[in-house]
Amino acid sequence: MPELRVCALYPELMNIYADRGNLLLLQRRCEWRGISFTLLRSDLGDELDPEAADLFYIGGGQDRDQRLCALDLAEVKRDALHAAADRGAVVLAVCGGYQLLGHSYQLGDEQLPGVGLVDLHTVRSDGPRLIGNVAIEVELEPGRPRVLAGFENHGGRTHLASSATPLGRVLRGHGNNGEDGLEGVRRGTVIGTYLHGPLLPKNAWFADWLMAAALGLTGPLDPLDDELEDAAHREARRAAGVS
Ligand code: GLN
Repeated sequence: MPELRVCALYPELMNIYADRGNLLLLQRRCEWRGISFTLLRSDLGDELDPEAADLFYIGGGQDRDQRLCALDLAEVKRDALHAAADRGAVVLAVCGGYQLLGHSYQLGDEQLPGVGLVDLHTVRSDGPRLIGNVAIEVELEPGRPRVLAGFENHGGRTHLASSATPLGRVLRGHGNNGEDGLEGVRRGTVIGTYLHGPLLPKNAWFADWLMAAALGLTGPLDPLDDELEDAAHREARRAAGVS
């Protein structure tokens, strides 16, 4: 039986807006397909085994919790996360977790380190928080644009270096910084995004893409009865103003 092994990093500290729901959705969609699902966790101070999981997950968090995690990521888990990404494991990070995938998160006079998996940096702004429903267009498969819909709430502004590829283009909402029309980042199987909601229950098609990538499948997963999931997706799009 195929198995999906997921490792949640800091599942208590980095779980704003019920981002844990993303893990539940992965679990259910595995079970419904007869794919065995294992959930591991890695907390402050825990060494990370890059071989132990197919998908590493970091949710969103408050600045003060991010501070603890940023230091731990940089000191304890950095090399393992790079090794995991290099061997094709999926790394999915949402909002506060996303901000820590880059080079740094500047909070006033303080600079939190990032893991440097993607070429970007984030600066906490004195300006208004970027809040609201958001929809972005992504093209994970060339020639097949699709919509991700969710909710964002962040004070940090993320700036991609010219070498970095965004996850998508903002259709509605603010995205990385409210200025350049870009949202998230993608480097192969490393994905960062500001979309909460949680992200995956509102975008089951994206969960399936992540699962297939994590399992190393080339073809699509078995289809499921997605009537409710499709309704959730439509509603999230509608809330963002993209029908
Ligand atoms: N603390 C970060 C910010 O405000 C991330 C918040 C979040 O994860 N929603 O920018």
